[in-house]
Parts: sequence; structure tokens; C-alpha cells
Amino acid sequence: MDCKTARLLLDFARPEARELEAEEVAELQRHLDHCPDCHSQARSERQLDECLGKAMRQVEVPAGLREQLLARLESARGDWYRQRFAHAVRLSAAAAVILLLCWAGWYWVREHLVAPIDTQRVASAVSEDVLDDPRVRTGRALQALGFETPLSPYLDYSLLVCPPALAELPGYPGRKVPMLVFARNGRTARVYLIREKAIPKNTPIAIGGGSFKAELLPSEGEPYRFLVIHDGDNLHWLRPPELPAL
Ligand SMILES: [Zn+2]
Repeated sequence: MDCKTARLLLDFARPEARELEAEEVAELQRHLDHCPDCHSQARSERQLDECLGKAMRQVEVPAGLREQLLARLESARGDWYRQRFAHAVRLSAAAAVILLLCWAGWYWVREHLVAPIDTQRVASAVSEDVLDDPRVRTGRALQALGFETPLSPYLDYSLLVCPPALAELPGYPGRKVPMLVFARNGRTARVYLIREKAIPKNTPIAIGGGSFKAELLPSEGEPYRFLVIHDGDNLHWLRPPELPAL
């Protein structure tokens, strides 16, 4: 090892230093043993280190400094969390206020901007409607409700009490289907339009249930089946005059 390398390594070869490999330390030591110049430099550097170390160790660390530092860190961390939390709370509050404003706006519009109704117009529309053929009228009303289906030929549509309307299917809360109400000489029948797919294959055509009976009208593969609920002995009165008895 030459002097240049030895002096360079001296900086790293302090006691308990780990930068050098054991082999390099041994080689440096061999050089120092034989080179008086480097040896004296190494000695003076180590003396300086020792003096500095001693001086540093004599400086007294104030009592409780560690605790103070830790407490300060802890409080800074607490502040950070508090700020984040406050930020989140402010954001949520702002979102809640916006939602509330939207809802209030929608409510106000719903309550105040209701289009007025002209009762004369309602009466005229009904008067015009009754001039049409009952079947045509019923088909059109079902279409307006969103139901596109051929009408069953086994019903006299001139006996309809009112236009078709959506109604809850008895026994099925919340399940709305089109309903037709027929009446003649004190007898009434409610007819529900049920999707063909919703009726199991082996369902009997007529079922008695207490004082009311349920009867499925014959189908020609239409998308909806007509389910008649009535309390009479038969449905002869519902049949259109042109249709022969079943
Ligand atoms: Zn040397």
C-alpha cells in the first residue's frame, strides 16, 4: 500500500468504524508500522478525534430533552390527525348541505310548479274517448300504460266501468299489473293482465277461493293472460254477444 492510499483510508479507519474490510484495515496497519510519516499523521488524527469526543461527551444533555422531543412529536402528529379529521368533517358537511339544497329545490319545484288542470279539457277528452269502439279504446289505454298485447276475445269491452289502470295484484303487495273492471246488472268482475311466463304450466283454468273465483281465459299464445276474478256462478254475462257460449 502506498502513502496516498494509506492517508485516504485513515479517514475511514477510526476505532469501531465499519466502512473498511478487515483485510484493508490489516494492510493499512502494516503500512503504518513501517512508514513513520503516515504513522505520525494517524496518531495526530486519532488524538484530535479523542479530544473532540471527550469535549462532546462533556456537554450536558438537558434533563428531559428526550421526553420533550417525543412529546412535541406526539403533539405534532395529533395536530395532523385533528386537521385531517376537521377537513373530512368540513367536506361531509358541505356535501350534506348541497344534498339538502338539491332536495329542497326539487321539493319546491314539485310543490310550486304544478301545471294547472283544466276540468273542461278532462270532460271533453272523456266525451271524445267514449265515441271510439270499446276494444280500440281499451287497447289504446293499455298501450299508454306500456302494455302491448292483443285483447282477449272472451270479454265484452262495452261493459268496462272505467279505462284500464295499473293496480296491485291481490296477494302480491307492490306487484302492479293492468286491471280492467267490468260490471253488468250488479255483477262485477276484475280482470288482471298477467304475463304468460308468470303462469305455471299446470295452473287450472278455474279456481274457487272463498266467495270469489279466479278464471284464466283461453289464450292463443299472447304475451299476457287475462285472469278474471268474480263472485258469480259463471262468466256468461261477460261474453261479447257475437261470441258463442264456451
Ligand atoms: Zn506512508
